[in-house]
Amino acid sequence: MNTDLPITLEGWLRNSGLSRLEARMLLQQVLDINHTYIIAHGQQPLSISEQASLSRLAQRRLAGEPLAYLLGWREFYSRRFQVSSAVLIPRPETEHLVEAALAHLPEQGILWDLGTGSGVIAVTVACERPDAQVWAADISAEALAVASSNATALQANVHFGQGSWYQAQPQPALHSVDVIVSNPPYIPAHDQHLQQGDLRFEPQRALTDNHNGLSALATIIAGAAAFLRPAGWLLLEHGFDQGEAVRDMLAQHGFSQIHTLPDLAGLDRVTLGQSNLH
Ligand code: GLN
Repeated sequence: MNTDLPITLEGWLRNSGLSRLEARMLLQQVLDINHTYIIAHGQQPLSISEQASLSRLAQRRLAGEPLAYLLGWREFYSRRFQVSSAVLIPRPETEHLVEAALAHLPEQGILWDLGTGSGVIAVTVACERPDAQVWAADISAEALAVASSNATALQANVHFGQGSWYQAQPQPALHSVDVIVSNPPYIPAHDQHLQQGDLRFEPQRALTDNHNGLSALATIIAGAAAFLRPAGWLLLEHGFDQGEAVRDMLAQHGFSQIHTLPDLAGLDRVTLGQSNLH
């Protein structure tokens, strides 16, 4: 027997090579147990196959693979969302975008989430506001499969359409949408962060426009007027240094009430504007 391998639950937490938090998350996942169980049964031995599964996962984690992909889920807005390497891992910053979307969505309003990925924005809005009509678009069939599985698991009623931004089908009617929301790929192609940390493992087309970081934002801003109802809102997540550029583009396209909301770090993160009153 290889005595290097941890053999009890507590031994795994101490000797996995991972942080104790991540070691525990993987342990709970593999054994399908909760934290309280671990506290009560720290001396329980791991079976050979449990040890094997756990060391495989630890190796992948130590090679940099994000914990969310190893677990297969990430919590967002207090709900558990399935994720795979076909979708961006939901970020806590995006919860601010959801808050803002909820605040601007009228009773029985219509919301369209462009580039839905795992579906976190659309599904969260549909769960929080069952009165709303929620649409979600993505170009990736794999992402839409993840998003629709999340909608099913969370009993959210979302209309999914496949295609690039406003070309997705099916789509809401012209001039009908109260809120268009998007967390598009906004990292510039040359940004070295794309080669670092979790980002190395995430889908590149969810992260970068392969250009200057503003091209997807520009496409979304340019196309919004055709779908928004008069005085509807466009809400965009963007990089901390893109607030001014996004505000300028919104102004050029006739939006009013343009303002930027900071994230918890105090950085520009979400910018919104209202379409013409007509
Ligand atoms: N809408 C998803 C999210 O906010 C995916 C965004 C993306 O892939 N750029 O997490």
